[in-house]
Amino acid sequence: MTTTRKDAASGADTAGTPQGSADPAGTPDAAGAPDASDVDLSDASARAQYHAALVETIEEHRAAYYQHDQPLVADAEYDELVRRLQALEEEFPELVSDTSPTQTVGGAVDTSTFDPVTHLGRMYSLDNVFDFDELRAWYERVRSATSARSKFLCELKIDGLAVNLLYRRGELVRAATRGDGRVGEDITANVRTISDIPHHLDTEYPPAEVEIRGEVFFPVEKFAELNASLVAEGKAPFANPRNSAAGSLRQKDPAVTARRPLHMLVHGIAVWTPADDSHPEPERQSEVYEQFRTWGLPISEHSKVLETLEEIEEFITHYGEHRHDVVHEIDGIVIKVDDFALQETLGYTSRAPRWATAFKYPPEEVTTKLLDIQVQVGRTGRVTPFAVMEPVTVAGSTVERATLHNGYEVRRKGVLIGDTVTLRKAGDVIPEVLGPVVAARDGSEREFVMPTHCPSCGTELGEQKAGDKDLRCPNARSCPAQLANRIFYLASRAAFDIEALGEEAALALTAPAEPESPPLTSEAFLFDLRPEDLADVQIWRNRKVKGVETGERELVPYFYTRGTAKKPSGPTANTTKLFEELEKAKDQDLWRVLVALSIRHVGPTAARTLAAHFRSLEAIREASLEELSAVDGIGATIASSIHDWFEIDWHREIVDRWRAAGVRMEDEEQEVAPQTLEGLTIVATGSLNSFTRDGIKEAIVAAGGKASSSVSKKTDYVVAGENAGSKLDKAESLGVPVLDEDAFRRLLETGSVD
Ligand code: NAD
Repeated sequence: MTTTRKDAASGADTAGTPQGSADPAGTPDAAGAPDASDVDLSDASARAQYHAALVETIEEHRAAYYQHDQPLVADAEYDELVRRLQALEEEFPELVSDTSPTQTVGGAVDTSTFDPVTHLGRMYSLDNVFDFDELRAWYERVRSATSARSKFLCELKIDGLAVNLLYRRGELVRAATRGDGRVGEDITANVRTISDIPHHLDTEYPPAEVEIRGEVFFPVEKFAELNASLVAEGKAPFANPRNSAAGSLRQKDPAVTARRPLHMLVHGIAVWTPADDSHPEPERQSEVYEQFRTWGLPISEHSKVLETLEEIEEFITHYGEHRHDVVHEIDGIVIKVDDFALQETLGYTSRAPRWATAFKYPPEEVTTKLLDIQVQVGRTGRVTPFAVMEPVTVAGSTVERATLHNGYEVRRKGVLIGDTVTLRKAGDVIPEVLGPVVAARDGSEREFVMPTHCPSCGTELGEQKAGDKDLRCPNARSCPAQLANRIFYLASRAAFDIEALGEEAALALTAPAEPESPPLTSEAFLFDLRPEDLADVQIWRNRKVKGVETGERELVPYFYTRGTAKKPSGPTANTTKLFEELEKAKDQDLWRVLVALSIRHVGPTAARTLAAHFRSLEAIREASLEELSAVDGIGATIASSIHDWFEIDWHREIVDRWRAAGVRMEDEEQEVAPQTLEGLTIVATGSLNSFTRDGIKEAIVAAGGKASSSVSKKTDYVVAGENAGSKLDKAESLGVPVLDEDAFRRLLETGSVD
């Protein structure tokens, strides 16, 4: 099989197959594997060819992954190929052979670098289950085969590299990779450099011989650093932490391994020859772990012996939600029959024990093509490169963009435009490009060059202060991108809350396709706009006919309707709403005005504090640096940011024009609530009946208190509503008084909780 990910990624996968002469082995897909839908499975020879092609592709992926530590595709894509092969062999059992990947443990021995070693006991792989139905089927099979006597040891499935340690009379004599399960690679010298692994077991009565299995891993948080240092040395970076563990351990020179922060956790046992009859082998795997602990071997903190299916499912669900609270990557949960005698009853298939299975979590890592790296200019002028990728589904959503932070970060990651990249998205976490799949490069990739001039206004970019990694466009006042982003921001819910002024409208106001001079050149004039100023504004849109895009672009009016003979052009419904909302915005609270000004470091919390203290924008403008920083909750950074902001002419112009247009810039005196919470720091958590999340903060600040978002010893009270989580736990552990909603109301009204 010659088609690899490389061919597929460069688009050469199907282009060469003429219509009507389909390859009998099937057209290769993105993972380089043939697709069954092209194959006539009723034809034995086509079926055999298809099977052979699938096996060859899987073997290629295995070699890239196990021998070169540089996989060509993400694990989920590889797993999908293996499942395809399994399904085919189940339907046509005559295709199964002893050498099929469904029957063998993946991996081989690189004898050019390492000596081969034969394991005393075979090293197996694990069978997988992918949902609770498959888990139930496995559980019921095991329970019935063991007359319902089995208990289950549940463990995290560590995404690392399997290693076999051999101790004789307590001394580490050999360490090996899994290889094909029977013969592995001798990596003793490298393993000796891992500080977690004792060279000598801490016991007076070690077994005569014991083979211990475990997983070597690379801590997730150190991964980015490693790739950065490899790139700096001109070496190929790794696609993900698992490959970095394998690559770091399988080094010719143990000194290189020694420099890598590798760790190990042990999770299995093969041969155990007791020293004498008074120290027999334990009867359960969980007991072995206890013994290992006393010998000084690294054991996971997270294993648990459970009995019912419900308990196992709970364990799986729990760690599914806490996957990232662990130092290593986990790709699932391993469930093992705990009792050795029952393990023996259940036995093994040719590649995996029947007494264990791995529940695999949905993948969080995928590979996709990095089509381009573009840059965007933010509200504060920061110029950020971002990855534009072939859309890909990961952790439940489709991802096609991911920030790359700055030019320095792009270099650190070692990614090139055109690379296949590993993309990680963990649940709600923002998607991140981890690194390039170097083995999939074909030479057409090119380096990203950070622009020297603003892509929006052409001004030369610079660092704000020497040594900054970020580049900024200094043309804050009139760079169209910065202005559009500020306009969009001032309309957000946390500022003036103008729903009709979204991202597209902000662009149409500041950088329309037509007319050449935009209706708005500074936010100072926002409240001076009149509907007729917007009559000629046009933008480019994708042309649609009956709701379907034609692929063409057309100029369309944005704020006005297209006039017809019957009905002349006029403001759209959204434009009418925009002007109504602008009118309403003039009467917003002072803190919202403050947020709308886009003063660095002045978000809603600082703005509320400032508004509660000074009550008018004029007072804030007049305040000295000392007066500003003396306000509880306003540190020196915020104070000087406000002070500096008012030093700039065009900033003052914004305030003056807004005021002249009728924007209210002070909170009315009668709004001053009794200062019942003066001097108190209060944290609210969970959902409350009569306050929104922001509402309670406002109430605290208005009553003279400080609304904080994290619990510490300095917190006076925590107000806990329903489903309060870790903040409530922290309050309890620190002994901070916890109030329910009623008690908080009493405190707010009377200044006392009694
Ligand atoms: P596996 O990783 O699914 O499971 C078996 C291994 O899990 C064991 O050998 C063991 O080392 C490890 N393990 C981790 N924690 C454990 C614990 N607590 N208890 C017991 N064992 C534990 O199977 P495999 O045969 O090692 O390899 C298949 C894996 O490698 C799959 O995830 C597959 O996607 C990946 N792979 C990927 C590619 C690719 O091209 N991306 C190629 C080959 C294999």
